[in-house]
Amino acid sequence: MRTHQFLSDQAETRPDAIALLDWDGAPWTFGQEWGAAQSGADLLKLAGVQRGDRVLMVAENCAALCAFIYACSLIGAWAVPVNARQTEAELSRIVAHANPRVALFMSSVSPDAKAHGERLDAREVNGAWGSLMMAEIAASDPEPDKDVAVMLYTTGTTGTPKGVMLTHSNLVFAGKLSTDTRGMLSSDTVYGALPMSHVFGLVSMMTAATFIGATVRLEARFSPAKLFAALNEGVTILPAVPQMHALLMQYTSEQGIESIAGGPLRFVSSGAAPLDPVWKRKAEAFYGIALQNGYGMTETSAGVTTTKSAFGDPDISVGPALAGIEIAIDETAEGGGNGIGEVLTRGPHIMLGYFRNQEATDAVLDKDGWMHTGDLGRIDDKNLLHILGRSKELIIRGGFNVYPPEVEAAFNDHPDVIQTAVIGRSTDTGDEEVLAFVQLAQLDALTSDELRAFVEPRLSPYKRPSQIILTLSLPAAPTGKLLKHKLIETFADQLS
Ligand code: ATP
Ligand code: MG
Repeated sequence: MRTHQFLSDQAETRPDAIALLDWDGAPWTFGQEWGAAQSGADLLKLAGVQRGDRVLMVAENCAALCAFIYACSLIGAWAVPVNARQTEAELSRIVAHANPRVALFMSSVSPDAKAHGERLDAREVNGAWGSLMMAEIAASDPEPDKDVAVMLYTTGTTGTPKGVMLTHSNLVFAGKLSTDTRGMLSSDTVYGALPMSHVFGLVSMMTAATFIGATVRLEARFSPAKLFAALNEGVTILPAVPQMHALLMQYTSEQGIESIAGGPLRFVSSGAAPLDPVWKRKAEAFYGIALQNGYGMTETSAGVTTTKSAFGDPDISVGPALAGIEIAIDETAEGGGNGIGEVLTRGPHIMLGYFRNQEATDAVLDKDGWMHTGDLGRIDDKNLLHILGRSKELIIRGGFNVYPPEVEAAFNDHPDVIQTAVIGRSTDTGDEEVLAFVQLAQLDALTSDELRAFVEPRLSPYKRPSQIILTLSLPAAPTGKLLKHKLIETFADQLS
C-alpha cells in the first residue's frame, strides 16, 4: 500500500468532508486535495520526475505541500519536505545531498521559500494547488528499487542533519498507529502547527488525520496567540512540542487566562523533546485534561512509546512501547549500568536507512533489526520507559553521571523560568563541568545568584552548574526544539 491511498480512500467515500483548513483559513475538501495531488503528479511527470527521483519541497505548512507529498506517492517519487526558514548554506547542503530532480518552493505562503526559489531560478507554476515555484535542479539519478515515501532530515540537535529514508510501509504503519493511539475520529479537528518537514508533523499529525479523515487546521508558523484562538475555535486534538506548551502558558498567563477546561479539546500530547514535570503540571491545569508524553525520532517514523496517563498523574515517563513495537535497554552502551542504558527499538516503524550513508546506517541499525537510538533510558517495573537524555549529552563529572534533564528540571521548578538547557564542557583538568542556560520571560526577574540559591538545595554538589547564563531566548530549530550544540558558540562572550 502507498501513502496516497489514505487520501484517495477519503476522496472516494467522503469527497465533501473538510480535509484541511489552509494556513490562510481556506477550507479544502478531500475531493479537492485529491484533485490537487493528481494534477501535481501530472506537473511532476511533465518535468521528467520518475520513480525513485527526489522532489525537494521548500515549504511551511500549507495545503499545497500536502498535495505534493501525495503527488510524489502517486508516481513513486520521494517527497523531501524541508523547512523554508533555513539559511542559503543549509539549503545548498541539502540540495547537494538529496540531489533532487526538481525543487518546489511554497512561495505564496512563505517569503523565505520565495527567496530561496528566486535564487535557484525557479519559475511560477499555477494549478489546482494554487501558486508555487518550481526549479529543475539536477540530472536524474533515481533510486527506483527503494519504496521510499519521504526523506526527512533529522533536527540536527547533535550535529549535521541526516537524511532519513522512510518507506510507504513505514508511514502506513506509523500513521495508522498514531490514529489509534490518539483515538482519532473523522469528526476531530487536529491542530497543525508542527512542521510537516519534521516526522512528528508529517506522521502523527498529517498522515494520521488523513487515514481517519479528520480535519487538520494548518498553521504556517506557530504563535501562541494563534494556538489560543484555535483552541477557542474547535480544535479537539493538539499535538505539540514542549516549547509550544510552554509558550502558550506564558502567553495566557500574561493575558490573565487561567484555564480552558470544559472546552472541545479532548487530546493533548507532547513529544520530540523532553517534557518537564513542572510544565506538564501547568499545562494540565490549563487544558483541563491529561497531557500525554510521546517519545520518538525521525528514524522511527515518529512514535515509539507514549503515556496513557490520567489527569494529574505526576509520572513523567514516556510510557510503554506502542502496539507492534519492541523496546529494550542496552546496559553495555556508554553511560549504561544499574538498569540504565541505551534505548533500542525494533519493528515496522524503523527507517530503511540514512540516504547515501551506509556507515552511519550501520552504526545505528544492527543485524537483528534493532535501532540504537543514542538516548539513555530505563524501563521501570510497569514497563514504562524513562528517557535520561542523549548518550552524547551525558555529563561525567568527577566520575559521577549527571543527566542533563534532571538538572534542567531543578531550574524549571522556579516560577520565572521558561526553559533550561544544561550541557557539559571539558575542563583543563580533563574533568567536565556543568553549564546551565536559562530562559526567562524578563531578564530583571531574577539574578543568577538567586537562581543558584534556589537550585542548590535540589541538586547534589556534583550536579551543580559552574556557570548559570540567563537569557531571553535559546537557540532552537523550527519545531522549537533546543539546539544544544549551538549554546557554547551563541553565548561565547558570556562564558568564562
Ligand atoms: P539529530 O539526530 O540530527 O541530532 P534529533 O535527534 O534532535 O537531531 P529528531 O529525530 O527530531 O532529531 O529527534 C529525536 C530525538 O528527540 C530523540 O532521539 C530524543 O533524544 C528526543 N526526544 C524525542 N521525544 C522525546 C521525549 N518525549 N522525551 C525526551 N526526549 C525526546
Ligand atoms: Mg537523532
